[in-house]
Amino acid sequence: MIQTSLDIETIRKDFPILNRQVNGKPLVYLDNAATSQTPRQVIDVIVDYYSNYNANIHRGVHALSQEATDAYEAARKKIQTHFNAAKTHEIIFTSGTTHSINLVANGFTSILKKDDEILVSAMEHHSNIVPWQMLCERTGAVLKVIPMNQEGELRMDAYKKLLSEHTKLVFCNHVSNALGTVNPIEEIIAEAHSVGAAVLVDGAQAAPHIKADVQKLDVDFYTASAHKTCGPTGVGMLYGKEEWLQKLPPYQGGGEMIAEVTFEKTTYADLPHKFEAGTPNICGGIAFGAALDYMNAIGFDAIAQYEEELLNYATEALLKIDGLKIYGTAKHKTAVISFNIDGIHPYDIGTILDKLGIAVRTGHHCAQPIMDFYGIPGTVRASFSFYNSKEEVDSLVEGVERARQMLL
Ligand SMILES: *Cc1c(COP(=O)(O)O)cnc(C)c1O
Repeated sequence: MIQTSLDIETIRKDFPILNRQVNGKPLVYLDNAATSQTPRQVIDVIVDYYSNYNANIHRGVHALSQEATDAYEAARKKIQTHFNAAKTHEIIFTSGTTHSINLVANGFTSILKKDDEILVSAMEHHSNIVPWQMLCERTGAVLKVIPMNQEGELRMDAYKKLLSEHTKLVFCNHVSNALGTVNPIEEIIAEAHSVGAAVLVDGAQAAPHIKADVQKLDVDFYTASAHKTCGPTGVGMLYGKEEWLQKLPPYQGGGEMIAEVTFEKTTYADLPHKFEAGTPNICGGIAFGAALDYMNAIGFDAIAQYEEELLNYATEALLKIDGLKIYGTAKHKTAVISFNIDGIHPYDIGTILDKLGIAVRTGHHCAQPIMDFYGIPGTVRASFSFYNSKEEVDSLVEGVERARQMLL
């Protein structure tokens, strides 16, 4: 029985999309690790922006531009407070985690030398692998992989052995999107710092479940995407320690990021604008702030507790299904369940679930190396949010059992 402090019925009323039907069945949305749904409170902020003060920021003297600038900068402040960054200008607005990582990887081109080493974890999203491979191609640096065990936990013993004075950068996700593993990033960061390496933590998958404190973690870079925390797509953030952001060159050239431009020489704007070339996703940034407000009003402790109850309830029920195997059984994980049933392709299960109105993800989840590790083509992934109900878990379990009977 789920005992929760969250009033799920009331919370669900905030999300208009949850009233929809899919294939004649009530929508059961369990693809939250790909994109979360958007509450009315955030939708209202978006409608208000375009209805009342849509204008470009930082330029105009007119009222609308001022209002837009104030709201955008207030959102930056909210993000700073949420992640407990020391300074507002340590928060850079980006289009999302992928953009944030590419910004840092590009910046290190001028810092790394041949044979410097970069460590990445074995359970990274492609967006946290490919930019580093490209960086290695540009610089001659070497990419090394921190291995994981069968449960989907990083092997910290192996990590410590990989670290040396050659290590310049360590990249790791806070939470794996494919397995749900919560990585021991505090320890990973401390060990990396002991050899003088910088650490970027990809927080895209952690941000909806865990409130990270970047100062307490002492992390050098941390990323998040609004669309996984009840906000809109196409906006996110990069946190960077001021000293690092000063050291890195700008990523893109353009308007907004300059102090002075002549054809002979351009000087760059101060942080954070140095990294924010062009007109940003203004409405998206404001809505990102509103989404964090919404989640904080519910409370991350309550969210974590409820989601853990959902995870345990769902895990127990799914494991009763014949031939079902769960990938990612770390002791510390978020509410993500990746699974397969013996002899059935994940895509076929996903297709039948869709016919029943149940949205799950199938495939490699942008983490092909993990699938190779387990020797499987992909998995079915059900990922839960605080607005999912126990009844929805029951629908999933019934749906999977039905798919098994149809397909075997
Ligand atoms: C979603 C996700 C990303 C990519 O985020 P975008 O918003 O698509 O840029 C990167 N890493 C992890 C762990 C993710 O879950």
